[in-house]
Amino acid sequence: MTQENKLEWVKELICELTEECQKQGISLVMQASSEKHDFASSSISGSDQELGLNLLLLESNIEEDTGKTINTIKRQGAESVCDCPRCTAKREDKSVKSENTPDDVLFKFLEALFSVAESGGLDD
Ligand SMILES: [Zn+2]
Repeated sequence: MTQENKLEWVKELICELTEECQKQGISLVMQASSEKHDFASSSISGSDQELGLNLLLLESNIEEDTGKTINTIKRQGAESVCDCPRCTAKREDKSVKSENTPDDVLFKFLEALFSVAESGGLDD
């Protein structure tokens, strides 16, 4: 089985699982991805309330499994794909420069967004 076929197979499994959940009246929130293989597939099933509950449970499970806050995990995810010099340097484990370049805008936006979220500013 080629890599492309394996990824296609994963997509089909996600599709089948979603269809089965819909048939059984089970709500589902799923996101699968691989930066390495340039692959992403997402799927949801259920009412807004069920999706919201699933998200809360999912975030709680992630925090429990990783021992980190969900905002830290989200920030790490955002930084892993950010091309600004600061995130690039962080990934390459180099010293972080404090120079203000245009590429830094995304990082500063994300940093502000997550610090607002961490302080509870987005929860109202
Ligand atoms: Zn960045």
